[in-house]
Amino acid sequence: MKINIAIDGPSAAGKSTIADLVAKKLGYTHLDTGAMYRAVAYSALNKNIPFEDEEKIVEMIHEMDLDMLPDGRVILDKEDISEKIRENEISMGASNVSKLEGCRKALVEMQQKICANGGYILDGRDIGTVVLKDAPVKLYMTASAESRAQRRVLQNMEKGIEADYQAILEDIIKRDYQDMHREFSPLTKAEDAIEIDTSNESLSQTFERVMKIIKEKLGE
Ligand code: C5P
Repeated sequence: MKINIAIDGPSAAGKSTIADLVAKKLGYTHLDTGAMYRAVAYSALNKNIPFEDEEKIVEMIHEMDLDMLPDGRVILDKEDISEKIRENEISMGASNVSKLEGCRKALVEMQQKICANGGYILDGRDIGTVVLKDAPVKLYMTASAESRAQRRVLQNMEKGIEADYQAILEDIIKRDYQDMHREFSPLTKAEDAIEIDTSNESLSQTFERVMKIIKEKLGE
């Protein structure tokens, strides 16, 4: 039987990249929960709903036709918004809507439904603490803010989107603070999560380390 795997950690720690690689290796599906908060922020922005208007945001979520495709594409009301939700404005917007208890409740329910039959790797901020409290494998990936900003710059350059190091570093620090200090489900390492600091590691080193942990946990 396939299990579910939880990966949490601050922004730009490489969670999504690692989750993608592990999912491919194991034949699992990666669900990027951050992209769901981003889709909510994107939709609110388009509909001129203020990020702090909980009632309207929750109503909007219930009317949203959000498709998280197994290949990672994010489809909102039949539109592919996968690239658009990576803009800086949406990153901060996602962090703002994610403070709302009602928004979190609605998205957590969707996430739990999606992975109910196992075989998923979820990455986010509250996966090990809320969404998949009983997951047999929980990882908490982190790295210094500077190395995370540097990696995000390279990633953005490859994708041809904004890549100003200072602006990205400031965004990362501000977003982490907000995510760690919010009232509902703040970002924190689950007691039973294994911490992985990737500051001084290459992607392949991290991947190998993560695969080793997963195999050990699965008793392989
Ligand atoms: O992971 P990503 O940077 O795309 O997430 C965008 C924002 O969504 C985060 O800064 C965080 O505020 C929010 N988020 C969350 N819970 C999750 C995933 C993301 O609150 N499980």
